Amino acid sequence: MPSNKEVDNVQVAVRCRPLNEKEKNDRQAHVIKVNEANGTVTLNTEHSRTGDHGSKTFTFDTVFGSDSKQVDVYNQTARKIVESVLEGYNGTIFAYGQTGTGKTFTMEGVRSTPELRGIIPNSFAHIFGHIAKSQGDARFLVRVSYMEIYNEEVRDLLGKDQNARLEVKERPDVGVYVKDLSAFVVNNADDMDKIMNIGNKSRSVGATDMNAQSSRSHAIFSITVECSEKGPDGEQHVRVGKLHLVDLAGSERQTKTGATGVRLKEATKINLSLSTLGNVISALVDGRSTHIPYRNSKLTRLLQDSLGGNAKTVMIATVGPSIYNVEESISTLRYANRAK
Ligand code: ADP
Ligand code: MG
Repeated sequence: MPSNKEVDNVQVAVRCRPLNEKEKNDRQAHVIKVNEANGTVTLNTEHSRTGDHGSKTFTFDTVFGSDSKQVDVYNQTARKIVESVLEGYNGTIFAYGQTGTGKTFTMEGVRSTPELRGIIPNSFAHIFGHIAKSQGDARFLVRVSYMEIYNEEVRDLLGKDQNARLEVKERPDVGVYVKDLSAFVVNNADDMDKIMNIGNKSRSVGATDMNAQSSRSHAIFSITVECSEKGPDGEQHVRVGKLHLVDLAGSERQTKTGATGVRLKEATKINLSLSTLGNVISALVDGRSTHIPYRNSKLTRLLQDSLGGNAKTVMIATVGPSIYNVEESISTLRYANRAK
């Protein structure tokens, strides 16, 4: 593997959730084996309807089996990125996978139960823990934004006007930004909790089926950490790091039988944004591409300055263990495999 910077800055992890009650009651076979020591995920495709019989093994930077703990996922995927954000770099963490496989569980988790908290609340605990321990005259300012991309349109989940569609813009001094996106200063983990609750409520506005809506949109929770500190030269220095935590739209094939009208339009846009993201990440990992197709989707365009260069990226692909999901699991593992 070439060891240039961008390669080291992109990490791909896979997490397999446990069988749920329904799958257990239906006696569905658990067909995914995760070997955490070797970083491999093996699918037993013997009894599936894919046509190919036997098993398939994929290797990743980090893999998590059905009994993985939230804290271990945090330590092995997010911790390094948050540390570099505290040093003034940018970073992005994505959860990619079929609806129902644990993207939201991984990113947000169950915030009311400490051991079930996901990457977002754990990042806050980490950031505020760091601030509390910091010495000298360092002053920190932490701000958050929360937006959704649905049908290639950006909506501010914390904004006053839920119908407003925001524009992605670019300026030489600030780079790519979302015009009029609201940002709130947070001082502790409680503030962040309140803000997440407000934003999550907005996600369902206007949707007939909340779950359907959230599985078709990308949710981007962004944290900006600004630190102002006196340098050895006696001057005040400001460094800014940005962290984007992205719960992607469900990766399941959206264009199943007979989608028409609005559903077809939605499906086409989801496919476009997920495939563009895959192309951008694989171009970054490849390291030889001169053209990175950021501009082909809203998502990659607005994350442009947090993907590639000095920014660190982690993609966590989530899969379900059941025989019933084996085709979607293979397609998720293929996507993730291309990204590493
Ligand atoms: P997604 O966001 O990908 O649609 P969810 O995160 O909502 O999926 O997960 C679906 C269900 O499975 C939820 O009830 C969630 O609590 C549970 N779940 C997902 N991943 C895990 C896991 N690793 N361990 C235990 N439960 C999980
Ligand atoms: Mg979800």
